[in-house]
Amino acid sequence: MPAPAASLPADLPPGRTIPASTEVVVIGGGVAGVATAYYLARSGVPVVLCEKGRIAGEQSSRNWGWIRKQGRDLAEMPLMIEAMRCWQEIVPELDEDIGFTTGGVTYLAETEADMRRHEAWLEGAREFQLDSRMLSPAEADAMLGRTDRRFLGALHTPSDARAEPAKAVPAIARAAGRLGAVVLERTAVRSLDREGGRVAGVVTEHGRIACRSVVLAGGVWSRPFLENLGLALPQLGVRSSVQRTSPAPRTSESTFGGVSASIRPRQDGGFTIARSGAARFDIIPAAFTHFRAFTPTLLAQWRILKLRFGRPFFDALGQRRWRDDQMSPFEAVRVMDPEPDHALLDDVMRAAKALYPNLADARPVERWAGLIDVTPDEVPALGPVAAVPGLYLATGLSGHGFGIGPGVGYAMAQMVRGEPTVVDLSALRFSRFQEPGGAVAAKPA
Ligand SMILES: Cc1cc2nc3c(=O)[nH]c(=O)nc-3n(C[C@H](O)[C@H](O)[C@H](O)COP(=O)(O)OP(=O)(O)OC[C@H]3O[C@@H](n4cnc5c(N)ncnc54)[C@H](O)[C@@H]3O)c2cc1C
Repeated sequence: MPAPAASLPADLPPGRTIPASTEVVVIGGGVAGVATAYYLARSGVPVVLCEKGRIAGEQSSRNWGWIRKQGRDLAEMPLMIEAMRCWQEIVPELDEDIGFTTGGVTYLAETEADMRRHEAWLEGAREFQLDSRMLSPAEADAMLGRTDRRFLGALHTPSDARAEPAKAVPAIARAAGRLGAVVLERTAVRSLDREGGRVAGVVTEHGRIACRSVVLAGGVWSRPFLENLGLALPQLGVRSSVQRTSPAPRTSESTFGGVSASIRPRQDGGFTIARSGAARFDIIPAAFTHFRAFTPTLLAQWRILKLRFGRPFFDALGQRRWRDDQMSPFEAVRVMDPEPDHALLDDVMRAAKALYPNLADARPVERWAGLIDVTPDEVPALGPVAAVPGLYLATGLSGHGFGIGPGVGYAMAQMVRGEPTVVDLSALRFSRFQEPGGAVAAKPA
């Protein structure tokens, strides 16, 4: 569960000042930024991580905690396989049990269309030699503790995992700190300091930090940050609601995905329950700028998206330009803490009980929402920004970034050090949006 926004410190801790200079500044204390700082510090590179609010205050503590290869876009698969190795490597280094469990992931098939979708993914993923396989109706029933053969089958990957997001990312940040990274909360980066067009530092609300490289891992705030520099990133925010339940028995350690409900066993004995794709899309000015680029995604998901006009923080997300000496949108909203959709979550709870009989007596004990940053092709933008030498993006993780986050951090650290990355990331390059046929190139003038 995410910690409440009200628990934020009032300012930098007494006596704490920001460093005058470092080698790399990472903007954003979500899983992408924290993992990047961890791997930079581990290789001895001086790094300062600036987080406007609290480490993992936004998506990275609010997510469902699934760490999966299953169902993933194949463009991300090599990096996801690497991310699994990173999780195994990082977990023993942490000072807290983050509930990392290789319990598997299971996508239930209720209809022929579900079966065809799962089988098509399995066929496409064959080149990666995963342990994914189709389960029979009897096997699916056994995992759920049912006997009625309600499912036509299921797609199952035993080596997929889960962890408690609200514990995991702060624990990785503390590990980065022990390795020498300087981790600053309540430190918004307003803009870049540039000399001759190249990164020379960042301008924070507390002053400047000189550096040679900047990694922007700002989640849903990456788009306005870049827009203030005159750069276009097609990225929108989609609000998604989640709940956790009281403890309940379990017949399997697997995480279950169905069309009507997604169910993940928690370390505290309860379950994290939500509905995949059931999201609210808030209309902000950027939505109009990038509408054409997003039309295919919106149409594909029209059944479950609710459109509505925004609230105050969406005004902040829509603010396009500010000066270095002006308060930025990042200070205006320290922690994005949207209202959950209770009517939706009531319905999801009913659906979850119908799927998993063990949940019969479970009740929701906490609800929250998060704003997911999504690119038009729903895969991240990772790598250098050609127009601003020294600036790198690690953003647009598009609703499945918790699992892949450590892999993103590992590869970003390699990139910033000027080394070849562990896997080829060219399919995830930022420039794809500007190329002929890309989202920004396609945008009406
Ligand atoms: C409800 C929900 C369910 C999800 N379920 C899953 C799941 O089961 N599995 C999975 O893999 N993924 C899941 N995701 C997606 C996953 O949580 C995200 O992809 C991932 O956490 C994104 O990490 P990030 O570091 O890019 O961004 P964030 O976690 O959003 O972090 C960005 C940080 O940058 C900070 N920041 C931004 N701008 C500035 C600035 N200028 N100065 C200083 N700080 C700044 C913000 O305050 C924020 O803390 C889910 C997301 C949600 C919301």
